[in-house]
Amino acid sequence: MTRAEMLIELMERLGLGPIVRSRIGGAWAPGAGDTVELIDPYEDAPLIAYRDAGAALAAAACEAAKRAQADWAARTAADRGGALHAIARVVTEGAEPLARLEALSAGKPIRDCRVEVAKVAEMFSYYAGWADKRHGEVIPVPTGHLVYTLKEPLGVVFQITPWNAPIFTAGWQIAPALAAGNGVVLKPSELTPLTTLALVALAEEKAGLPRGLVNVLAGLGPTAGQAAIEHPAVAKVIFVGSAATGRRVAAAAGAALKPVVLELGGKSANIVFADADLSAAAKGAQAAIFSAAGQSCVAGSRLLVEASIAAEFQDRVAAGMAKLRLGDPLDEATEVGPVGNRAQHARVSASVRDALSGGAQAAQGAAPASGLFIPPTLLSGLSFEAPAATEEIFGPVVAALPFEDEAEAVALANSGDYGLAGAVWTSDPGRAHRVAAQVRAGTFWINGYKTIHVSVPFGGFGGSGFGRSSGTDGLSEYQASKAVWVETASPPRTLFGYDAG
Ligand code: NAD
Repeated sequence: MTRAEMLIELMERLGLGPIVRSRIGGAWAPGAGDTVELIDPYEDAPLIAYRDAGAALAAAACEAAKRAQADWAARTAADRGGALHAIARVVTEGAEPLARLEALSAGKPIRDCRVEVAKVAEMFSYYAGWADKRHGEVIPVPTGHLVYTLKEPLGVVFQITPWNAPIFTAGWQIAPALAAGNGVVLKPSELTPLTTLALVALAEEKAGLPRGLVNVLAGLGPTAGQAAIEHPAVAKVIFVGSAATGRRVAAAAGAALKPVVLELGGKSANIVFADADLSAAAKGAQAAIFSAAGQSCVAGSRLLVEASIAAEFQDRVAAGMAKLRLGDPLDEATEVGPVGNRAQHARVSASVRDALSGGAQAAQGAAPASGLFIPPTLLSGLSFEAPAATEEIFGPVVAALPFEDEAEAVALANSGDYGLAGAVWTSDPGRAHRVAAQVRAGTFWINGYKTIHVSVPFGGFGGSGFGRSSGTDGLSEYQASKAVWVETASPPRTLFGYDAG
């Protein structure tokens, strides 16, 4: 069986049928715009092509979400929670084909895809639990009024997700939006729409998700995406993707006076002090950058190492790099897959070439000669301002930079625009907490890297975006507080001017 045939078989099994179409109002809707080709990053070969949803389907999706949302918001919160629990169950039941579809179409190792699908089920369970527990409060104001707040849904939210973690980012945003009573339009990356489409179709067909409550656009950003941002039914835009696109999305949303959450990229500092457990730190440094072939927003792509151990530590990381198993994403043994698409392969290759021609040195692991592979690469001898040391490369490439002391490590970690994540490796607890407090990052690990959980808030500072996902912070992004004032005085107080109580 060819991999294109395997793809069709998985699509059929998950209810998508043999064609890539948008999911609108609980039915499949073929696009009529430009042709988009999906490729298999492992073989660098075409898998399937489809037509962009365009502005017309975007409008249909927003209207379907608006119609379905009114009934959804009118249900009891406990009922909505029950529906989310049912989605968690069907995701668990369909976990293996979902993970295989993700591995095949996104080029991500199957072992990572299984974990991500399990996390999606966990996200629906987690927010199912919150659905009836995030209510308003009574506020004892000095005027004697009875004042209470209501936590209301926003209406329809538009979510935009990237190609590097398609089903993960879909579950991450759909679950809290539904728990809070919203309708959803989601545009996954045009390069990896399949598992998001499958997730929503499964939820509708097998978990009773009301049709039209979540709509998925198989389409392009400037057409379908832009039209949905501008659609009057959309109350808020949640964007997960690159900083460059995030700026455009925020500008378009701002012009329409709509709030946005921006979950953008990073250039996260992984700081290693000489007193750290160097064996654990070296393994952590590899996992930080080479898992998902570096295509992770939190990737530890700047390895800051105390100068006294820099050479020795780089050798340790390079030795580990040589042992990484690169290969077929569908192979159980594969630890590192290809990069996800041709444009990204070209960008990462160019970044490494430019760094080398600028005088950097590279230690590289091995990679298959065919497909969109980039060998794991550790760059050293870079200046602190070099593009490879400051810009998000989003591939298996780490820039190693030495520092002299704690103050310099913190200053380097905080240099540049990004503020998404970071880590420190040290055996000195006081220093660990000092550094954690000073590094400007939404997520920071001490003697570890890359653990995340739906119960823990996640997001960035500065060029890494604003707003938060996950946990109760993430739920708050999908709710608005309404204050209700009830007059209790008899006769009523003056209605003119402000009442001082
Ligand atoms: P991207 O910015 O190229 O695309 C993201 C999404 O935006 C896609 O769905 C795309 O179609 C859409 N888009 C493009 N132009 C648009 C427009 N004009 N209007 C509306 N939508 C538009 O990002 P990518 O290359 O798919 O993903 C990789 C990036 O995502 C990296 O920078 C990575 O760090 C970031 N990321 C961030 C997080 C996070 O939580 N902070 C998580 C995963 C990925």
